[in-house]
Amino acid sequence: MIAEPLHALRSEEVAERLGVDGRLGLTSAEAARRLDEIGPNELAARARPNYAAVALRQLADPLVALLVTAAVISAAIGEHVEAAVIAAIVVLNAVLGFVQEAGAERAVLALRRAVELNAIAVRDGREVTLPARELVPGDVVRLRAGDRVPADARLVDSSALAVDESALTGESVPVEKDAAPVAADAPLAERASLVFAGTGVTRGRATGVVVRTGPSMEIGRIAELAEAARAPATPLQRRLGSLSRRLAAGGALLTVALAAAMLIQGEPLEEAFLVGVAVAVAAVPEGLGAVVTIALAQGATAMARRGAIVRRLPAIETLGETTVIATDKTGTLTANRLRVAAAEAAAGRDVGEVLAAGALASTAEPVRDGDELLGDPLDVALLQAAYEAGLDPGEGHERVADIPFDAVRRRVTVLLRGPEGPRVVVKGAPESVLPLSELDADERTRLDGVAAEWGERGLRVLAVAERSLDDGVPLEAAEQRLVPVGIVGLEDPVRPAVPEAVETAHGAGIDVVMVTGDHAGTAHAVARSVGIPADREDAVHARVEPADKLRLVERLQGRGEIVAVTGDGINDSPALRRADVGISMGRSGTEAAREASDVVLTDDDFSTIVAAVREGRRIADNIRTFVAFLLSANFGEVVLFAVAILAGLGAPMTVVQVLVVNLLTDGLPAVALARDPASGDTMRRPPAGLGTLLGRDLSVLLGTAGLAVGLAATAAFLAGRELDPGAAQTMAFATIALAELALVFSVRVPRSPAWHGGRNPALLGAVGLSVALVAAGIYLPVGHDLLDTVSLDGSELSLVIVLALLPTILLELAKALRR
Ligand code: ADP
Ligand code: MG
Repeated sequence: MIAEPLHALRSEEVAERLGVDGRLGLTSAEAARRLDEIGPNELAARARPNYAAVALRQLADPLVALLVTAAVISAAIGEHVEAAVIAAIVVLNAVLGFVQEAGAERAVLALRRAVELNAIAVRDGREVTLPARELVPGDVVRLRAGDRVPADARLVDSSALAVDESALTGESVPVEKDAAPVAADAPLAERASLVFAGTGVTRGRATGVVVRTGPSMEIGRIAELAEAARAPATPLQRRLGSLSRRLAAGGALLTVALAAAMLIQGEPLEEAFLVGVAVAVAAVPEGLGAVVTIALAQGATAMARRGAIVRRLPAIETLGETTVIATDKTGTLTANRLRVAAAEAAAGRDVGEVLAAGALASTAEPVRDGDELLGDPLDVALLQAAYEAGLDPGEGHERVADIPFDAVRRRVTVLLRGPEGPRVVVKGAPESVLPLSELDADERTRLDGVAAEWGERGLRVLAVAERSLDDGVPLEAAEQRLVPVGIVGLEDPVRPAVPEAVETAHGAGIDVVMVTGDHAGTAHAVARSVGIPADREDAVHARVEPADKLRLVERLQGRGEIVAVTGDGINDSPALRRADVGISMGRSGTEAAREASDVVLTDDDFSTIVAAVREGRRIADNIRTFVAFLLSANFGEVVLFAVAILAGLGAPMTVVQVLVVNLLTDGLPAVALARDPASGDTMRRPPAGLGTLLGRDLSVLLGTAGLAVGLAATAAFLAGRELDPGAAQTMAFATIALAELALVFSVRVPRSPAWHGGRNPALLGAVGLSVALVAAGIYLPVGHDLLDTVSLDGSELSLVIVLALLPTILLELAKALRR
């Protein structure tokens, strides 16, 4: 848009060229016009799934190759209907897989958008928060520590600004920036008057005018930033992947062995091959991958509804296996609605002076919105208290410079010019402020005593100090020989749902640990009021610096814990990244923390974490259930084939029949199982362990059920050969399909009787549909043509139904015996 090197111009010139008043910002009408003309401020990043890649993945599956070969051979030996049906199933399976996977990717992309970058811009003379994609050149934007720079901008004004530009330049040391013009030929890394989209503010704050948006920004030139939307595999998915590979290898061996057996028995080669294909298809759980994907996508949506937005899919599962939650205090356990509850003046000062100086030592500049003051809750509380005392602290003062709050310094320093000349005011943690002050030992002891007493009551304590200055003293040098004004105690109510959530976590075998920058006294008092055992070692960590948080996470992980940690500040990023689940705050947190996290809490509330843990456990439980369910069918089919072929009786089911069971009559209930509600004991047992599939006892139980399904089908097949040889395959098919449809109700509650299972209308519907499909397959002419079945008579059907119920009855008995 502009040819001149913007970094070399004065900021006023830049604003003028961009047609904007640096104080009032753009009018919203002008901004809308520019947005229309230039387009949204986004890179051409992926807004839609990569459909071609998704489609390709459906075809690049060994099973597809196997089935295509089977179809070709069937066609070659004249089995045209079978060939067509297999081909149709291949296509149907690929289409379903495509639809599901594309849907899951869209869901992930949508979730990513839900935590899209916001920016603070000045429009029509007012500060507004808007999505960064709506920024246009000319917009005046505000930047604070922790923000991600939303668009390339020319600085107009700044205070102690430092920016991490490693995303652009690879240089990891933050660079200092200010509004002064730099030489026109300065390289990118030295254009200190410009800030670039995608970089992060590490310190200070600034105002800038947006000069470039969208793909023309510096970051637009860096290709790898267009992140792939493909979600990484979860621990359970990885376990399932290796399980599937082992099943496929086992299936291949079995196929070769059984086909060889048929050849030895003197069967023709094509026949042996087709049966071999049927065995291979029987051994592999075709529907599994798609069902897991659906379950995770459904889980992510359910969690989002509860206020936990999952940025990385594996976090769903990891949350459920969390053994320690290390949580912030302020804003997560408490509401971060601070109120001044006590104030104590230093010798010779009065409470009004304490409040006034405290309110002045603010960089957050609370703004009035109707009756409400908006801004940092701590600054708002002090200003509110000053107003209530009839004071107007800002009156007659001009802020010259400041050092904003950070979690390491734990204080705010502001340089003012007032009626009596320049003055510095400081407020912060007493340990941070009082050592910079001149105060005698008795007074120090007195103030410390009051502070300790307030801490016992759970109040957050601040010290306020000040000093008059000579003109021209630099800010850093002003932070010494301060005169104490007094201390303030602030009350912050505990969030109402937190005590119960802490109790629930404890009941679920999860340790809750508090990590706070606040004073130990305050921290212990709050811990006690929410039910964290404050006197236990390692339960409360007070006066923690962000670097300590990272070390705490590492220490816990070293003990084998699965650690979820919360964070909101820019310095929390390393701990958030290092943790098994990093949880950031959607309301109060910085952009930097959100980007480092796996989960974003839309309400900042600790109890939402516990709700998300429960949701994670529900989903993992459901995945385990339908894995067991689908595998029981495969196991049953393998048993059936092995017995039939080794006994020289030929194939007990056709390839198409096997596929119909694995993909349709089993697949539909499996998908519905993903919606099963959490069982009553979900949060009353310890974490299962990451990637645990079933555990030894459940594997034995459910393996037995699968064996029972196989034996029931074998019995049906053998009985069919005696009664009516033409119906033997149909009876085996119907028995496996119906046995599974009964078994699903028992498998979904592996530890209690089937009738204790929660309500799941989707499951009832799916089972009903599957039963109808089986009936149509057996009794309708079209079923006969497609599935190679015959109608069963009354006694055959009765036998099938009895045999199909046996595995379920057996499993219920086994469960009752275990209790
Ligand atoms: P928390 O873990 O509770 O979020 P912080 O790191 O935010 O702790 O705060 C640590 C200490 O820093 C507080 O106890 C308080 O004394 C001081 N502090 C916090 N916020 C401010 C602020 N806006 N201005 C001055 N001091 C502050
Ligand atoms: Mg804080």
